[in-house]
Amino acid sequence: MGLLDRAGARLTAHPEEAEILVVNTCSFIDTAKQESIDTILEMARHKTNGTARKLIVAGCLVERYRDEIRKSIPEVDAVVGTGELDAILEAAGLAPIAAAPSPFSILSTAQAAATQTGIGVRPGQESQSGTHKHVAATSRQEGEARERQGRFSRDDWQGATHLLPTYLYDETTPRFLTTPKSSAYIKIAEGCDHPCTFCVIPNLRGKFRSRRFESVVAEAQQLVARGVEEITLIGQDTTCYGEDLGLKDGLAQLLDALAVIPNLRWLRFLYAYPNRVTGRLLETIAKHDNICKYLDLPLQHASPDVLKRMKRGASADIFLKTLEKVRAAVPGIALRTSFIVGFPGESLRDFELLEEFVGEAKFDWLGVFSYSDEEGSGAFSLDAKIPKRTIESRKRRLMKLQQSISKRAKQQWIGHELTLLAEGESDETPLLWEGRTQFHAPEIDGKVYINDFGDLESLEPGRFYRAEITEAHEYDVVARIVSGPL
Ligand code: SF4
Repeated sequence: MGLLDRAGARLTAHPEEAEILVVNTCSFIDTAKQESIDTILEMARHKTNGTARKLIVAGCLVERYRDEIRKSIPEVDAVVGTGELDAILEAAGLAPIAAAPSPFSILSTAQAAATQTGIGVRPGQESQSGTHKHVAATSRQEGEARERQGRFSRDDWQGATHLLPTYLYDETTPRFLTTPKSSAYIKIAEGCDHPCTFCVIPNLRGKFRSRRFESVVAEAQQLVARGVEEITLIGQDTTCYGEDLGLKDGLAQLLDALAVIPNLRWLRFLYAYPNRVTGRLLETIAKHDNICKYLDLPLQHASPDVLKRMKRGASADIFLKTLEKVRAAVPGIALRTSFIVGFPGESLRDFELLEEFVGEAKFDWLGVFSYSDEEGSGAFSLDAKIPKRTIESRKRRLMKLQQSISKRAKQQWIGHELTLLAEGESDETPLLWEGRTQFHAPEIDGKVYINDFGDLESLEPGRFYRAEITEAHEYDVVARIVSGPL
């Protein structure tokens, strides 16, 4: 969107007004693929019956089904994979910005070879070549070993290109923010080197690579200067940040550097890998008032047998020790996790172990995914697939258990005064507003409904207030404004 905007396109969120339609897709599980395909078909109707002249499909579905999309949906005029984002301009029929270099840093294998032989650039150092900014490849040894074992192979994916994406954006890449004005995401790394057997994200997104430290800090400073007060750092695995740049505890170092940016009120990161939550990282979260006391730690399962087959390792006992360490280092921290139910071979006993673990761990937020059998994943060839009905009933059972845990925990919030970011009128009724606390990540966790503005006539979206929690429901709470805006 940033590139299109800079090239002079006027962006609209209304497909009936658009001349060019762009569908950005996802393809990591079946439901995401289906949603992507349904949206493409819906947009194709605007092309046949409306004003649209072109339909472009972008994103991960293209990485997986590049040829298939063009063959099966003839209304699609162009496809743009996740590694060729600047091709969006040509696809849209817009002239590239004259003589401008690509706004993406592309990891260069030629330069990587030069680095290995001791000539040329240092890890993370950039140079300009042709229209792309090249960055010396900074992969992790773990990623290289996994690549030799075929972790990133797309051999099973007919019609997909074999080239893995290698780009990284930087602070000079144009961005068009669609998040509310006070909040923004920053992607600090791309790709993933982990071997999780249910997951095709590494095949879609490529090897793990970190953005340069200074680039992330510069982007955060720019965003805060534009009025952003909440930054959420993302990446497939943020806790590996900087390993390929030779940094130890890179994420903690990055948080330390970002937390001191004046006027940055909330800073958080998502998606920590369980065995990479270090003491230093926890100390950093505890040390800075503006780092949200919030940790999203996807655990995927708790039965050691299932975790072994998932190639994630660990067990309920190990996870409970980790949670104890986290809670001791950062008192009051909100913990989010997600699990997959119905992984091949998951016995009733495995599932019961997971239930027992959820009962003990008492997460603040929990998501449950049904196992999705993905071609190209390690688990695709495993026997003992679990019937869909069993998967869905286990999912319901686990969510019900969490619902009662969550309800009891939310009751404890009543009477507490917290800082709250007002987001706007509720979608459900204009009589209520919605907001979030530091314990709620954007878009994913429960809601805070505001039913009493206190002494204020009205609230401003994107501003922070003090509020008292007055009621609690299963996942959501109700609040009364005490003072503000802050
Ligand atoms: S760590 Fe996350 S993104 Fe990486 S392979 Fe595992 S589940 Fe997929």
